[in-house]
Amino acid sequence: MAKVLIIGAGGVGQVVAHKCAQLANVFTDIVLASRNEEKCKRIAAQLKNNYGRTIKTVQVDADNVPELVALFNNIKPFMVINVALPYQDLTIMDACLETGVHYLDTANYEPLDTAKFEYKWQWAYQEKFKQAGLMALLGSGFDPGATNMFTAYIAKHYFDEIHHLDIIDVNGGDHGYPFATNFNPEINIREVTAECRHWEEGAFVTTAAMSTQQSFTCPDGVGTYNIYRMYHEELESLTKHFPSIKRAQFWMSFGDSYIKHLDVLGNVGMTGIEPIEFQGQQIVPIQFLKALLPDPSTLGSRTKGKTCIGCVVRGIKDGKEKTVYLYNIKDHQDCFGEVQSQAISYTTGVPAMIGAKMMIEGTWMKSGVWNMEQLDPDAFMADMNEYGLPWKVIEDPGFDLI
Ligand code: NDP
Repeated sequence: MAKVLIIGAGGVGQVVAHKCAQLANVFTDIVLASRNEEKCKRIAAQLKNNYGRTIKTVQVDADNVPELVALFNNIKPFMVINVALPYQDLTIMDACLETGVHYLDTANYEPLDTAKFEYKWQWAYQEKFKQAGLMALLGSGFDPGATNMFTAYIAKHYFDEIHHLDIIDVNGGDHGYPFATNFNPEINIREVTAECRHWEEGAFVTTAAMSTQQSFTCPDGVGTYNIYRMYHEELESLTKHFPSIKRAQFWMSFGDSYIKHLDVLGNVGMTGIEPIEFQGQQIVPIQFLKALLPDPSTLGSRTKGKTCIGCVVRGIKDGKEKTVYLYNIKDHQDCFGEVQSQAISYTTGVPAMIGAKMMIEGTWMKSGVWNMEQLDPDAFMADMNEYGLPWKVIEDPGFDLI
């Protein structure tokens, strides 16, 4: 039905390419572009081998708008699936506007020199996309993405009004390294070391990074983990689009070894984003650290265990207070068996494919810039079950969360 251009051939790009290739009747033509074409070619060879599909690969610098415009004019895709880095969101959106191409991403724009997630830069494109008759779908990964859909689905089917939201992201996977990140190390460490913000009675409250923690027992035997409160971008859009929410928090699990390494690296300045002068050269510490750490796309074969990501919502139904937990569990090795990737990339790439499918099939197609929860969740949630991320609901789970 449509030609898609995937930009970014990292861990997530690989999964998106596989999942699109599996649906030949929707994604009739696939082009994969990235800074380094070799990585695109490696993925193209997997697709040929696994599904007998041939895709085109291209080298592109997604920081460069004229280069993107030339590529889009040449390829003429229906839409771009942007799974490069958050720094490229605005240049790709600009090129989409100039060439009449729809847009989707999985992470909100972040300026290179400020570690701060905010939607304001992308929301500012609302009128431009509307007037161009184009759609931009923001944050169609897992968190943000599936978590926005989970919240919208729970609000639609289980409550008259929702009041408390806790998003809980547990990765029970073990890759055997003392310290490695499951997705792009620079983005991951910027996110984790940023000040924590959570929503409380109409405003964001700021606390020190990783200063609040609790223990959480996942369902279905996944295990008990320490989860830390941190800021995550979907809190901004969800509290805006569900104004009845009184408190919203995001929690992520980290092992003791990860926390110990992060503390030390932070203390010695290795997680800094300001350039320093070293032997006559400008070096950004976090970028140097990234070069030393394992490439997340190589973790797949070694990662064992499961992810468990979901939303706990408290609210009112028929005058009574209740709690609903909706979650997905995914096994790292199952993901590797299917698409040669670990579950973090898998759980991000599948919702990106489904978001694109919703746009191509017209289920969600409308001009403007949209966060996921502004769109009806039902078809998306049905596709999560169909395409590898089945979910379950527990009513009144009896959690005792902070
Ligand atoms: P990777 O670092 O593995 O991949 C990023 C890819 O983008 C690499 O292939 C990289 O090229 C390419 N790239 C970077 N800069 C440019 C550029 N200027 N021009 C063209 N290509 C470029 O990251 P991930 O795959 O782990 O993550 C991809 C995106 O997904 C990120 O934005 C991340 O924040 C987001 N994400 C979202 C999640 C969610 O649940 N919503 C969860 C996990 C990730 P090169 O190989 O040359 O470096």
